[in-house]
Amino acid sequence: MTWRTISRNSTAIPELKGEKTLLKCTDPACGNVFEMPKNKYYKDLQEKAALGASASLLTCPKCGKDTAYRAVKCKKCGTVFLYNPRPGIYEDKCSNCGFSEMEEAAKKGSSTQQK
Ligand SMILES: [Zn+2]
Ligand SMILES: [Zn+2]
Repeated sequence: MTWRTISRNSTAIPELKGEKTLLKCTDPACGNVFEMPKNKYYKDLQEKAALGASASLLTCPKCGKDTAYRAVKCKKCGTVFLYNPRPGIYEDKCSNCGFSEMEEAAKKGSSTQQK
């Protein structure tokens, strides 16, 4: 007799209930900003990658083009800017006021060990 727990975690998509990610259409004629659940974001990226499309751009619900890119909204000034990892710069650093939540957290946590 064996007891088995049915695992539904067969995919690599993490369970991110309630968490949302922000996206911004990079088409200057559109510029649409919208939110989507993170798990859907990752799922859509996987589907795009499977089709051989660009792995970081999703379809914009407003203009229908594959130009929507992950974005961050500044907690301080409210500017929405593209999530853009650059060497030596925090990827959530605001392009307008320079505020970075990650940088602030790193400063606060510099004396204590945090993951
Ligand atoms: Zn658009
Ligand atoms: Zn800002």
